[in-house]
Amino acid sequence: MASIARALRPLSRTAPSFRLAARQPLPYRLVQGTHAFSTTSRRQEIDLSSLTPTPITHLSETESLMAESVSKFAQEQIGPKVRDMDEAEVMDPALVEQLFEQGLMGIEIPEEYGGAGMNFTAAIVAIEELARVDPSVSVLVDVHNTLVNTAFNNWADAQLKKTWLPKLATDTVGSFCLSEPASGSDAFALQTKAEKTADGYKLNGSKMWITNSMEAGVFIVFANLDPSKGYKGITAFVVEKGTPGFSIAKKEKKLGIRASSTCVLNFDDVVIPKGNLLGEEGQGYKYAIGLLNEGRIGIAAQMTGLALGAWENAASYVWNDRRQFGQLIGTFQGMQHQLAQAYVEIAAARALLYNAARKKEAGQDFVQDAAMAKLYASQVAGRVAGSAVEWMGGMGFVREGIAEKMFRDSKIGAIYEGTSNIQLQTIAKLLQKQYTK
Ligand SMILES: Cc1cc2nc3c(=O)[nH]c(=O)nc-3n(C[C@H](O)[C@H](O)[C@H](O)COP(=O)(O)OP(=O)(O)OC[C@H]3O[C@@H](n4cnc5c(N)ncnc54)[C@H](O)[C@@H]3O)c2cc1C
Repeated sequence: MASIARALRPLSRTAPSFRLAARQPLPYRLVQGTHAFSTTSRRQEIDLSSLTPTPITHLSETESLMAESVSKFAQEQIGPKVRDMDEAEVMDPALVEQLFEQGLMGIEIPEEYGGAGMNFTAAIVAIEELARVDPSVSVLVDVHNTLVNTAFNNWADAQLKKTWLPKLATDTVGSFCLSEPASGSDAFALQTKAEKTADGYKLNGSKMWITNSMEAGVFIVFANLDPSKGYKGITAFVVEKGTPGFSIAKKEKKLGIRASSTCVLNFDDVVIPKGNLLGEEGQGYKYAIGLLNEGRIGIAAQMTGLALGAWENAASYVWNDRRQFGQLIGTFQGMQHQLAQAYVEIAAARALLYNAARKKEAGQDFVQDAAMAKLYASQVAGRVAGSAVEWMGGMGFVREGIAEKMFRDSKIGAIYEGTSNIQLQTIAKLLQKQYTK
């Protein structure tokens, strides 16, 4: 496994916790490198034209350290729990604590709030490495970092930041609540209503398929404050777990990513103080679009990591363990070509993924790139994880190893944070605009 990882990205020689490494005084050159593409600071200072072009998947020293330490953590600490968590359909709470301890829940949260103060690509690297071992853990970290933390980083006022960013970095999982029973792809048709009261707001409605609901202590909830304005009435609110009237109505049983919680939430006259308005009234649709555009790069990372994990698992089996007709099954040309084809597709997905991430960090328009990365990475994940089951024959089909789980987990990539059709629609719209005379 290690040699394949090395082929995909340069690794540093040692693998201490990146959190510790990030807190040590770093040489000036490295500090610059660390922040060179930061989304939370200094972006305006960069003159991109002065940078020497490098391979798109090249990582900075800090990002490489992140990759190596997360890979080690995932293999040693998550790996042994994957099968049990999937069977029980539960995320181990001790593992969630470890994710906080490792600094993986506050990757882009500035250091002044207790986060790691790292860049977006560092988060992408972590999501990818986690998915190589368990896509369920990966999505917990992904939603928390790319949707929830980013929403607070970008739009929370000083008081909300002071209250929530330190918690999000150290002990409180976040959840992002947009979808509803009648609004999935058509997200802005949401019907949860917010109404103004003397001291703040009152929420009524329900949300569906909400990731991290069972673990979360804070929820970003989108509701319409003025339906007469259509989607321009959509507003974002911060709702704390335990707020009267707010409840988890049902935990879904799913095909894949079964350790990741997905729930229906009810809001029944939920009173929200004025201070829990996130950003400005009526701007929620803009925040949601922005977050999902960025979040799609996170899902592309999850799917790329999943594809590589499924491929590596099968490659190890066919090239080391299973013999038929007197030879290892991976030495048959019919198998070798399929393995090579799949690996090329994973590498292509990674190139799209890192290109989208770097463009986002550079402040360039990345919407089409994010859609292309998510679309393609989920297609590759589906194909590779499906083939991996077949390459492993009966061993791929039984619930002993991870092959069948990766295959089940891969299906979600084409559904959440915009289905594949919705990604195609975005790509086509932008292309049409570009090519219309
Ligand atoms: C496990 C899981 C976790 C999730 N986590 C979250 C979360 O944390 N927060 C959250 O807010 N939501 C979450 N979701 C919801 C998810 O984002 C939606 O399921 C997704 O946007 C699709 O919506 P839908 O399920 O209503 O499908 P629909 O919108 O009903 O789509 C069904 C089919 O119709 C197609 N379709 C719809 N409209 C068009 C169109 N205009 N053109 C072509 N085809 C179209 C779709 O591509 C799809 O194939 C989660 C969902 C799942 C399953």
